[in-house]
Amino acid sequence: MLEQAADVGGTWRDNSYPGCACDVPSALYSFSFELNPFWTRSFSSQREIWDYLRRCAQRYGLTPHIRLRHEVLAAAWNHARRCWQVNTNRGELTCDVLITATGPLSEPKIPNLPGLETFQGKVFHSARWDSDYDLRDRRVAVVGTGASAVQFVPKIQPTVGRRGLGAGRRRHPQAGGHGDLRHRVPRHRYADGHLDPWPGRPHPGRGVVRWSPSAPRHDGGRVPEPVSSWSARTPGSATPR
Ligand SMILES: Cc1cc2nc3c(=O)[nH]c(=O)nc-3n(C[C@H](O)[C@H](O)[C@H](O)COP(=O)(O)OP(=O)(O)OC[C@H]3O[C@@H](n4cnc5c(N)ncnc54)[C@H](O)[C@@H]3O)c2cc1C
Repeated sequence: MLEQAADVGGTWRDNSYPGCACDVPSALYSFSFELNPFWTRSFSSQREIWDYLRRCAQRYGLTPHIRLRHEVLAAAWNHARRCWQVNTNRGELTCDVLITATGPLSEPKIPNLPGLETFQGKVFHSARWDSDYDLRDRRVAVVGTGASAVQFVPKIQPTVGRRGLGAGRRRHPQAGGHGDLRHRVPRHRYADGHLDPWPGRPHPGRGVVRWSPSAPRHDGGRVPEPVSSWSARTPGSATPR
């Protein structure tokens, strides 16, 4: 596996803007073979999702097969040798089967705005957030009002202050309350190292996702199974990306 960056994680490695989080419930935004009863929120943060993905790469033995800092520059089928020739920034490789999984959003799209090149102020894309740049008391213009803006605008608004923030839009996004909740994280650990979400008892708490420890898992352990829903609290989710 060839990865241009220095770590795995894709979207969840590259997007670190304030408020970056899943906008579908984390219990659904998980691998079916690696369900995670330990999400701390119903819509988990970027950092937590990135950690989960890194753990998965380790746990399923992918890490030794990943060549980091290998950017694919071109690929062509070689008829004579009956293989793919893959050009990377670290040289040429060959393979029988080529699968691209470069993601639809891995390259930030900078809009073609007249005057952008000569603009004297700071400019950055939300997918390459400059966390060293201090937004305090700055007048900030946000271009776009999609799912990312819905997440970071409320986070930076108290910092930039009143009258400091403007947002431009091309289309109306649709947003609705999604009821993000803090989860109670389980503590008990099985002898085999797995954590038991709710040791020995159904949990009566309101506003938490409960899990049944009874469903069998392919590796002989136990797989969490959602058995109740959560109650809404915080509005502000975005349309799916
Ligand atoms: C901020 C944000 C939030 C999102 N939230 C949600 C959500 O809540 N729910 C949802 O369903 N979807 C969401 N998405 C969509 C998200 O992109 C997908 O869910 C998913 O993460 C895409 O995974 P992927 O592996 O296809 O692509 P990516 O995660 O983009 O991974 C592609 C990888 O390919 C690498 N790569 C690209 N080009 C090359 C090259 N030439 N050579 C080598 N490596 C290369 C990249 O560095 C990257 O690591 C969100 C997207 C963003 C940007």
